[in-house]
Amino acid sequence: MGSTVLAVFAHPDDESLACGGTLARLADAGAHVVLLCASRGENGSISDPALVPDGDLGTVRASELREAAKVLGLAEVILLDHPDGNLRWAHHHQLHIQIVTTIKRCRPDAIITFAEDGLYWHLDHIGIHERTYSAVESLGAAAPPLYYVTMPQGVMREVVGAAIAKGWTPPDSSFWGIAPDAFGDAAGTPTLMVDVREWIPRKLAALRCHRTQMGPSNPFARIDHVEARRWLGIEHFRRASISPADSVLERIGQPVVSS
Ligand SMILES: [Zn+2]
Repeated sequence: MGSTVLAVFAHPDDESLACGGTLARLADAGAHVVLLCASRGENGSISDPALVPDGDLGTVRASELREAAKVLGLAEVILLDHPDGNLRWAHHHQLHIQIVTTIKRCRPDAIITFAEDGLYWHLDHIGIHERTYSAVESLGAAAPPLYYVTMPQGVMREVVGAAIAKGWTPPDSSFWGIAPDAFGDAAGTPTLMVDVREWIPRKLAALRCHRTQMGPSNPFARIDHVEARRWLGIEHFRRASISPADSVLERIGQPVVSS
């Protein structure tokens, strides 16, 4: 394929959850996939304290991310150390410069990041959307096409339902304390769908590398490949209005025709 795709996310695990199938599919097609992750996720949840014996969650999550990147076939991971939980406000200018510099160095054919809703109104995700949008916009006519990853509402409810049907009793029916229907609650209409059903085993394997986040009390620990194909087998994207209508991503996806 000879193309480069840059994904910009907030925390280790965002890449696998939001669009791990697409990243793996692009990598398998020969694309050079670069991930820029703005924080080490040091303030996230811990599924099992034994995984973080010295309390340094950021270091553990950095190594979980390296494992997931290997599973997905990513060519490069740039892991920054901005403060988890404060990405919308902290180091504003520095993060802008880092994204711009990465774009100029990698010269991606497409960039993927969160949409305005941050998947479920996560403020760090919204901050990454804002910084990435500004960075791309600042490049003017030279800017690569920008895509926002979205998730249709209902998907996470189905994943929870599948886990419950297998006898899983949820602590609070949630993902990390987030109601399943918060995912995709304010998602804009996608413009592109990417079929990743064949890449579901890799997406699940990558997700499960993030052991501190995907412990046994997480529904992702329970669903099998058949269920994951059904509920997570299509990944959705919306092309930013500032971007041209052609890119490497359009070549592996199907346009969504709005009715
Ligand atoms: Zn995140």
